[in-house]
Amino acid sequence: STTSPFLDPRPLTTPGALALVHLSRDNVLPVYLSEDSGAVDGYSEGAVINTRFGSFPHSTLIGQQWGSQIRASIVDTGSRGRKRKLGNVTDADATGNDTEAFTSSTSNTKDVKTAATGFIHILPPTPEIWTSSLPHRTQVVYTPDYSYILHRIRARPGVQIIEAGSGSGSFTHAATRAVYSGYPKDPEDKRGKVWSFEFNHDRFLKMREEVADHRLNGIVQVTHRDVYNDGFLVDGESPEAECIFLDVPAPWQALPHLSRRKPTPSLLASGGLEPLKETFAQWKSPLRADRSVHICTFSPCIEQVTKTVEIMRRLGWVDIEMVEVAQRRINVMREKVGLNMPLERGTSQSPRNVAEAVTRLKQIDGRFKDFYKDKRDTDVNMEDIDAEKGQDELSNEDANAVNNISDPSDTPALKPWMAGRLVHRTEAEIKTHTSYLVFAVLPQEWSEEQEAAAFEKWPCGK
Ligand code: SAM
Repeated sequence: STTSPFLDPRPLTTPGALALVHLSRDNVLPVYLSEDSGAVDGYSEGAVINTRFGSFPHSTLIGQQWGSQIRASIVDTGSRGRKRKLGNVTDADATGNDTEAFTSSTSNTKDVKTAATGFIHILPPTPEIWTSSLPHRTQVVYTPDYSYILHRIRARPGVQIIEAGSGSGSFTHAATRAVYSGYPKDPEDKRGKVWSFEFNHDRFLKMREEVADHRLNGIVQVTHRDVYNDGFLVDGESPEAECIFLDVPAPWQALPHLSRRKPTPSLLASGGLEPLKETFAQWKSPLRADRSVHICTFSPCIEQVTKTVEIMRRLGWVDIEMVEVAQRRINVMREKVGLNMPLERGTSQSPRNVAEAVTRLKQIDGRFKDFYKDKRDTDVNMEDIDAEKGQDELSNEDANAVNNISDPSDTPALKPWMAGRLVHRTEAEIKTHTSYLVFAVLPQEWSEEQEAAAFEKWPCGK
C-alpha cells in the first residue's frame, strides 16, 4: 500500500513498515521492519532489536497482527573465528538495562547468546504513540494539548491547516490525521492538507524526509520559511486555510500575514511591527475567504500571550480566549490499606492466622464504611486514607505478617480483587506547565453584494 501507515496501517506488519515497539509505558521505540536477514552461513539473525527484555529479530515481528505480543528469541550474535554478519541492530537499552544478561553486540569476536526472557508489543504508528517516541529536535506539543487545540480550531477532514513551525513534527502528525480526506490526485485537488512552515534549515530537511518516509507527501506540505518576514503563501499561491496553529516564539509577528486584507502601515506602526512594512508589497491573503478562520497560538510565557492578544485585537480577531491545559494523571488501584491494623486499637500484635486476618479485614471494612459514610466507595482519596492510617499507629510487622500469608487460596477474603479498597491517587501538583493556548476567530467578511444576495434570499428581507 502507498497509504501512510499513520492513516491506514493495514492489519498485518509488513517489511519496510514503520512499527512502534512498545517496551514499557514510557519506552516506545520506532523501528522500520527490515526483511533483510543479513544471514551469512546461516548463522546471523539479521536485523535485531536488543532490549532489556531480550532480543527480537525483525523476522519475528513481520507478518504479525498489529498489537501482538512478541516473545524474545534466543539470538546468536557472534561467533569464534567464524564470519558473522549481524544485521541492523537496534539497541533499545536506553534505561540502564541489565547488560550482562542481555549482552548483544555487533562484535564478531565473541560468542554471545542473548537470553530469551520477556516480551514486547508491536504497535501501529499513531500520532499519539509517535509523539511519545519521536526523535526530539525541539520542544514538542503533546497529546493533551493538541487534541484540544485541533478540536477548538475545528480541524476536520477536507480543511486546509497552516502550522508554524514544524519543529519535531509532533503536531503535524496529529493535524494530518485530523484533516485527511484522501490523497490529492492533481495540484488543483483541494483535499485536506497541512501547510507546515519551518525556518531552521536542518529541521526543515528532516521534516521533509520524515514526511516522505511516512508517505504523507501531498497531505503535508513543508516549506522552508521565516514566517515573520515572508508569510504563508506557497509559490505565490494561497493555502486558503481556515485553521491555524502557531508554535513560534513571537506569534504576533506572524499575525499580520494572516489577515484578510493587506495590513495598513499605521496598523503595523501601532503594533510595533514597522519592520514588516516592506514584506507586504505583494499581498494576497493565505486565508479562505468564505469561512471564519480559527487560530490557536502556543506560548509558554504570559508576556507572549499579552502581546499576541493585543495584536489579534488590532487585526480584527474576535472571541479571543486563553486556556491552559493542566493535565493530571490519576492512578486507580486496589490498596491493601488497613490489613496491618491491629485487632484491637492500642495493640500491635500481628494476626496469627488466616482466620484472624479475615476478621481484621471485616472489622476494618466496617470502620472504613463509617469513616467514609458520606463518600462513594469508589471515590476514596489517598490523602483521606493516609489520615486514617496515621490515627492507628500501625506497625510494619503487622503488614508483613498478613501480606505474607503463604497460601492465598486458603483465604477467599484475601483474593487480590477483594484485598484492598479501590482508591485513586492524584498527583499532588501539576508538574509540567506546557504552554498557554490563545484561541481566536477571524470572522468571514461579507461584501456588499453578498450581503444583498443573502438579504434577498432571506424570507424576512422581502
Ligand atoms: N509544534 C512543534 C511540534 O509539535 O513538534 C514544535 C515547534 S518548536 C517549539 C518551534 C519551531 O518553530 C522551531 O523548530 C523553530 O525553528 C521554528 N520557528 C521559530 N521561528 C520561526 C519563524 N519565524 N518561521 C518559521 N519557523 C520558526
